[in-house]
Amino acid sequence: MAHINKKFIKNYSLHKLTSMQIGGPAKYFFVAKTEKKLIEAMLWAKDKKIKCKIIGEGSNIVASDKGYHGLIIQNSIKHIQTTNNKVNVGSGKNLLKFIFKLNSLGLTGMEKMAGIPGTIGGAIYGCAGAYGQEIKDCLLRVKVVDASAQLSTSNPKAMWLTRNRCEFDYRNSIFKKNLNWVILGAEFKFKKENPKKLKKISSDIIKLREQKYQPGLLCPGSFFKNIILKDLPAKTRIDLFKKIDKGKIKYGKLASGYLLDLVGAKGVKTGKIKVADYHGNLILNQGGGKASDVAKIAKILKNKVRKEFGIELEEEVQYLK
Ligand SMILES: Cc1cc2nc3c(=O)[nH]c(=O)nc-3n(C[C@H](O)[C@H](O)[C@H](O)COP(=O)(O)OP(=O)(O)OC[C@H]3O[C@@H](n4cnc5c(N)ncnc54)[C@H](O)[C@@H]3O)c2cc1C
Repeated sequence: MAHINKKFIKNYSLHKLTSMQIGGPAKYFFVAKTEKKLIEAMLWAKDKKIKCKIIGEGSNIVASDKGYHGLIIQNSIKHIQTTNNKVNVGSGKNLLKFIFKLNSLGLTGMEKMAGIPGTIGGAIYGCAGAYGQEIKDCLLRVKVVDASAQLSTSNPKAMWLTRNRCEFDYRNSIFKKNLNWVILGAEFKFKKENPKKLKKISSDIIKLREQKYQPGLLCPGSFFKNIILKDLPAKTRIDLFKKIDKGKIKYGKLASGYLLDLVGAKGVKTGKIKVADYHGNLILNQGGGKASDVAKIAKILKNKVRKEFGIELEEEVQYLK
């Protein structure tokens, strides 16, 4: 394993790896381009008795100002294989590039997710979705390795989980409960559609998305999950209905951004971290911001919503510490 040693970068700043551009140094950093290298790196961390975390493109992460006292592996496994309407893809493949490829092959099911940053692995972990499509919709199975098991590069003990076993739900999956599980790849099955039509849908959606997320914004996307009304206690729901415009309810969900707007979250600021003036669920780094200020703002916003509506907001973003 000595040869892999040289590939680790020491004290690599996490703000270079996250869309929010926040975070102190990772003690060790490694980019894994193949499954074998990724497993080798995990074994190296195990051997050294240091913790280890796999990330994609860091578009849903708030990294600690203190950094990460272990090994961060950036997943760059990008292979792609197509057989008719089935596609096998490495989990480090960029989601948008994947969608562009599907569009040109005339494979439909993910074109409306165009513009969501990040990798296939990150999208599966968080059951990403937009405009009525979710990563799970056309997914057949996910290739996973359990980092806590006795692994070796010759016998990585990878397993394939069928979609049903992944326990997908709104921005949730079995992977959020099993933090030692690493997503290596996935297999999808799509229906056929006219490539021109798919390309047009994706490009229209990208334009629409840029109104909320202007290119270059330092943010992790929506900060809090939306509210699933059926999950609220009956009394909370009844009280809520007295205070909101019911027209805002879409598919049984209420946008957290709407509730945050009602409690005056827009424009709230601590240090260099600010809630967007035009959207209550968008927390921005204005440059040089700190994770500690993100945590302060998150607490302020949660308190405001709890006090007014009795609802506990839950982060969609993942804290890395
Ligand atoms: C401008 C902007 C807009 C966004 N819009 C949307 C949207 O419309 N819909 C939506 O759902 N999300 C949205 N997001 C959030 C984000 O893009 C998604 O959550 C995305 O799927 C994260 O992918 P990633 O590769 O960047 O994951 P990362 O941010 O790198 O990681 C997120 C989590 O996944 C884990 N993870 C990543 N890869 C693996 C793997 N291979 N195995 C195991 N665990 C892994 C990480 O450990 C971490 O806990 C947006 C973000 C931004 C910045």
